[in-house]
Amino acid sequence: METAPVTVPVLLPLALPAPYDYLVPDGARVEPGQFVVVPLGPVHYIAAVWRRPEGEEPPKIARKKLREIVEILDDVPKLPTVSLDFADWVSNYTLTSPGMVLRMMMSARSAFEPPAPRYGVRLSGPPPERMTPARARVLEAAKNGLSWVKSSLAEAAGVSPSVIDGLVDAGTLVAEPLPDWHAMPLDLARKRATLNPEQTEAATELLKHTGGGFAVSLLDGVTGSGKTEVYFEAIAQCLERGQQALVLLPEIALTGQFLARCEERFGARPAEWHSGVSPSMRGRVWRAVAENKAKLVAGARSALFLPFPDLGLIVVDEEHDQAYKQEDRVAYQARDMAVVRGHLGHCPVVLSSATPSIESLVNADQGRYRHIRLGTRYKAASLPAIQTVDMRKNPPERRHWLSPVLIEEMAATLERGEQVLLFLNRRGYAPVTLCRKCGFRFECPNCSAWLVEHRFRHRLECHHCGKFMPIPHECPSCGAEESLVACGPGVERIAEEVAEHFPEARRVLLSSDLTPSISELRETLREIEEREVDIIIGTQLVAKGHHFPGLALVGVVDADLGLAQGDPRAAERTFQLLSQVTGRAGRDAIKGRGLIQTYMPEHPVIAALVAGDRDTFLDREIAARRDAGLPPFGRLAAILVTAGSREAAEAYAREVARAAPEAEKIQVLGPAEAPLSVIRGRYRFRLLVKATREADLQTYLRVWLAQAPKAKGDIRLTVDIDPYSF
Ligand code: ADP
Ligand code: ZN
Repeated sequence: METAPVTVPVLLPLALPAPYDYLVPDGARVEPGQFVVVPLGPVHYIAAVWRRPEGEEPPKIARKKLREIVEILDDVPKLPTVSLDFADWVSNYTLTSPGMVLRMMMSARSAFEPPAPRYGVRLSGPPPERMTPARARVLEAAKNGLSWVKSSLAEAAGVSPSVIDGLVDAGTLVAEPLPDWHAMPLDLARKRATLNPEQTEAATELLKHTGGGFAVSLLDGVTGSGKTEVYFEAIAQCLERGQQALVLLPEIALTGQFLARCEERFGARPAEWHSGVSPSMRGRVWRAVAENKAKLVAGARSALFLPFPDLGLIVVDEEHDQAYKQEDRVAYQARDMAVVRGHLGHCPVVLSSATPSIESLVNADQGRYRHIRLGTRYKAASLPAIQTVDMRKNPPERRHWLSPVLIEEMAATLERGEQVLLFLNRRGYAPVTLCRKCGFRFECPNCSAWLVEHRFRHRLECHHCGKFMPIPHECPSCGAEESLVACGPGVERIAEEVAEHFPEARRVLLSSDLTPSISELRETLREIEEREVDIIIGTQLVAKGHHFPGLALVGVVDADLGLAQGDPRAAERTFQLLSQVTGRAGRDAIKGRGLIQTYMPEHPVIAALVAGDRDTFLDREIAARRDAGLPPFGRLAAILVTAGSREAAEAYAREVARAAPEAEKIQVLGPAEAPLSVIRGRYRFRLLVKATREADLQTYLRVWLAQAPKAKGDIRLTVDIDPYSF
């Protein structure tokens, strides 16, 4: 009698509904979480051994139909059980295939290849016979006796790598193999800050909930109150237990300052995880995390999917930030998934913000999260005084955007040797370009959007699909020459206006499209910190989390910009953004001020900012959400249908809507044109599914979509649970 073949479920990193069964090679043993190579059709994939749900029998498949695992990747650390739990949970919740979640977990390709040997260089021999200034700088930098990666030594010394090669040839430097990962020599008590009484109280309370086991704390403190110092105590506590700690940050631009602060506090730099990290470094970080060698990790939202075997703390800094919501591929909200990951891994979670999300505040009110507040700035620093500039009464010059009041304040601030930040959340030079003769406007051929002029890069560009064209000399419609005019401001145009008024000032323009590399961005931020810059003009890149000690005045060029957007979250988002950006001012010894240019100073968001009355504003927002049954009092999902033709998209969206089952606690709204009705040549229709908190939204959607007509041809349907905009 033939014995039943030994098979295991294997999850491939593809959009498949479930794991597939594969034969285990004779005599081999595999465990869940182990990486293997399996064939699918003619292709081999790296995949992960998964688990069979409890009580489920292996499927009865004839041996000859089964395919065998080709290779067991013993050298690759396996996924810890909690990663498998997390992948299944996220897949279930977001209604995406588990394979796509696994794919996010495997996003460091080089982790699956044998690590390339690395060499470091160290000072060991006599000085070279021929000494040059460049060589002298290298010797100075390498004096500490450490083994350096060649490129970082070259960077530290400001020389080209060939100078290093020359010194190796001369026998002054030796090259030696480096370990894969330097275990961090932590020094947890060394640079501990002396907390003030309010911070001490907050830290004591926080440490009660981060001592081990799952609990969520909302660290809610005004900008500059020392939230980072307070949660550093929880990190130290976690590292002392020997566990791993993860800090999520919304913006790569923030990591530089954060890494430096960690280094000062803990004596070692955290491992970094974000899109700016090189592929080989990603592989090394991934392995070091999986092998429990990387103890402290700072990263973007995707760091949540790293294979931590012993995670003892997750901090979500600036937890309200929109950047935590991923919308493409697997649509997830990293702040919420951090809480899930914490729950599954019995690990405490800290959410930190000066302007917490309504979701987190309601969770705190209802007792699910500990609410820990810090009401004052550290030391003598007080919160900036915020005033509006009523643009109806203080109009700027024609085709200018800075009011006389703001310009005067800027001049006075610069006079005192203090810094100014002007904030406008709009990249480029002008949002619309039109022909003065015939009224023609440049529109993106692929999207329902105007082309934005980027004067520094001499082009018109679509912010949705990236399409661009050179700025023409004549109108493409009527042929008139020199008739094109830029309408409205972008940061580039504000920079131009600032140069007109303050030609002597040292100015810097910060916008994600103008900052080519992270190291250059970090360098600019350091210059600002060290007061080598007088005026900073920037988009939201500079709004968040930075600590600029010399910054006294923040001018918001157009506070009404975000409020014009129609969705119910616009008020919350604008309040958060403007509090954050004005909160950059006066964080140290200097008194800070915020000047907000607006045409509607009586708007509740603006009024709350000026009065410094967050709670009244939020109470009203929360009440409105409750009345409307909107999150967090109800649940939402968005179903997006896209197609190459408007008719096809709309017709299919209607068919899907008609197939929606009746349910007491669930309402289907739409379809309606999505807020941006065309992107990349694809027409977009949206259905909103609104449910009470008790409703099982996922099951409802699964049943519905299984019975809805299938999308044919180029039509696509995607589901976004907890959409950011609604
Ligand atoms: P937040 O995260 O709340 O915006 P930070 O933790 O960045 O505040 O603190 C603001 C500034 O004050 C930082 O430069 C920080 O180093 C400093 N600071 C805060 N608390 C202390 C403290 N107890 N001792 C020394 N410096 C502190
Ligand atoms: Zn476009």
